Amino acid sequence: MRVDVVTIFPDYLAPLELSLIGKARAAGTLQVEVHDLRRWTHDVHRTVDDTPYGGGPGMVMRPEPWGQALDELAGPETHLVVPSPAGTPFTQATARALAGDPHLLFACGRYEGIDQRVIDHAATRMRVSEISLGDYVLFGGEVAVLVVLEAVTRLLPGVLGNADSLLEESHADGVLEAPMYTKPPTWRGLDVPEILRSGDHGKIARWRREQALLRTAERRPDLLAALEDGDQGT
Ligand code: SAM
Repeated sequence: MRVDVVTIFPDYLAPLELSLIGKARAAGTLQVEVHDLRRWTHDVHRTVDDTPYGGGPGMVMRPEPWGQALDELAGPETHLVVPSPAGTPFTQATARALAGDPHLLFACGRYEGIDQRVIDHAATRMRVSEISLGDYVLFGGEVAVLVVLEAVTRLLPGVLGNADSLLEESHADGVLEAPMYTKPPTWRGLDVPEILRSGDHGKIARWRREQALLRTAERRPDLLAALEDGDQGT
């Protein structure tokens, strides 16, 4: 998968060198390039923003540098992803869909966001998704890109040592994962549930399913309701 990220703060994306994303890059599973939007400015101040039409506080990102950046970086298979608190909520289903794309191009907004014409114009030439991390407002899209890329990269073939991890974890089948335990069997007076040490794999699987459903009912009844509606795409 090829990934391009356009931002006015390239250093914000430094964690993409680390951990399993860094390894996926080193292995060639993921090719990531981070670009400074100011490369596509032409004035002495390298201006990327201006005051909003209609008035109001803050600044809006001007369309010209974005238009040129997209002209240069987009290709026939590009999916433009624009983080925005006004976007569609990001879920595991979104991550699965993005993991199938050959080229993701991320446009990180700052200030009051990007002039809407950039997104509207891009949508006439390529697939565009405006994606929200949640119902809160961040300073910029960079953190959202890190989150989306981490969720997507772990779904790419060969990135996780044991691909079975993907089958049993939270949100894989619409519910949360059951609680997990490791050694020692007793810690600070708390025991690991006996059944997990029984060696009976059938019983363990049933216990885990039960716990997963209980936890989901307690913490995220909305997920169970979606499952009942036949939607496993959380
Ligand atoms: N004025 C915008 C609004 O009210 O919808 C908020 C702009 S925000 C301060 C600046 C940038 O941060 C956005 O363009 C977007 O890239 C990013 N951002 C902020 N909150 C986000 C969220 N919940 N999900 C994804 N991106 C977000």
